[in-house]
Amino acid sequence: MRQARLGPRGGAALWAGKLTALMSRALHVGGGTTLPGDVSRWVDRRILTKLAAGLDGGSIVVSGTNGKTTTSALIRHILDSQGRPAIANQAGANLIFGVTAALVDRASWSGALPASIGVFEIDEASLPLLVTETGPRVIVVTNLFRDQLDRYGELETTAAHLRRALTQGPEGVTAVLNADDPMVAALGEDLPRVTYAGVEAPELLQPQLSHGADAKFCPRCGSPFIFEGVYFGHVGHYRCPRGDFERPTPEIAVTALEIDGIDEMRLTVRAGSESAAVRVPLSGLYNVYNVVLALAATRAIGVPLREAAGTLGNFAPAFGRLEKVAVEGRPAVLLLGKNPTGFNEVLRTAIQFGKGRYFLLALNDRIADGQDVSWIWDVDFESLKGVAQHVVLTGDRALDLAVRLKYAEVPGDRIEVVTGWEEALSRAAQATPEGETLFILPTYTAMLELRAVLTRQGTLTPYWR
Ligand SMILES: [Zn+2]
Repeated sequence: MRQARLGPRGGAALWAGKLTALMSRALHVGGGTTLPGDVSRWVDRRILTKLAAGLDGGSIVVSGTNGKTTTSALIRHILDSQGRPAIANQAGANLIFGVTAALVDRASWSGALPASIGVFEIDEASLPLLVTETGPRVIVVTNLFRDQLDRYGELETTAAHLRRALTQGPEGVTAVLNADDPMVAALGEDLPRVTYAGVEAPELLQPQLSHGADAKFCPRCGSPFIFEGVYFGHVGHYRCPRGDFERPTPEIAVTALEIDGIDEMRLTVRAGSESAAVRVPLSGLYNVYNVVLALAATRAIGVPLREAAGTLGNFAPAFGRLEKVAVEGRPAVLLLGKNPTGFNEVLRTAIQFGKGRYFLLALNDRIADGQDVSWIWDVDFESLKGVAQHVVLTGDRALDLAVRLKYAEVPGDRIEVVTGWEEALSRAAQATPEGETLFILPTYTAMLELRAVLTRQGTLTPYWR
């Protein structure tokens, strides 16, 4: 137990937050993942700083567009296996209030913390404030893609938030950056301590940028990059033709990889003269990055590469991220897709690695999903053509998906629009023959709705437990 020094005001803030959490749990209002943070901060705006100071092992924060939840979960898994359990915020509660709520929740009524280290996932726009308030030891940036434009504006604005956070980090902070994402790599210039992580598997580079690709231009001179190829989106091997910017050589890299369906992938990871074999129950190239970034982050706080790598065999995927469930007895996989690149990658994982032929696609346009659904035109739904045997479409904007799939030339007799979450799950399961897996690809709030149904049916436990 570590005691945070809270003072009278901080103590009051902690109690106010903990009481709020108790009440929201008693009233079943969403598990209280952020409201206690709001209340605590209202009583003492320095409460997060005071509580975080009680973490004598410091904290690791993870930001970026995609992969935050899985990367954080991998880091926590490695630390757990080292006998160093971490305090972490709930997936999805990744604003400053969510981080505050996590510490308020885990602290005792007297302010003692049950762990010495924090692992926090945080939205890009909230990162500068989190860094100021908590002074982390490691900041991980996964990638930068166009997300919901109505929420954060342009990609350059997001990059500016990240740059500000990285330059104002405490002395000794290590930035762990994705070398293969040009906009993320550019953030590392002039920083005192940077570890670049990436993938060195040129045989897997694809020649063309998919239509979801964003960062095609040199951040120095604006010339279009020359891409040797991409692994996904704009993440790959690149250089500026004018020679003023190129992909940094990653210090820690995946040098070989084998993806075996959706159940397991095997990687070789190299860092200097060290190398380690990794088996991890994940799939998809985007998850290869989550793994190497997690290994780089834990290595930055002194966990040897081989030890960390050896723990990943029994990693359990985070909720909605390759999460396996049963729907009316049929095996099903939940694959969250929040933006064009994310959706492209889960679609590719389902088709290429999962050999998926039966799908449930669920599109919502609520605040957390992004209210403008035009991004579905940047998703490569053409890959379903000739593959999909049956596709159930549901959600607030199921009809937009139906139009999109029509343009993707998925035959109309294989598409079914079903209203109602329970009905959609049921219909999709019934349409999936024995021996096949149902692939469920929802946007964020659609995933929460579908999970709520599965929880009521007893196949899943609520995510806040
Ligand atoms: Zn240039």
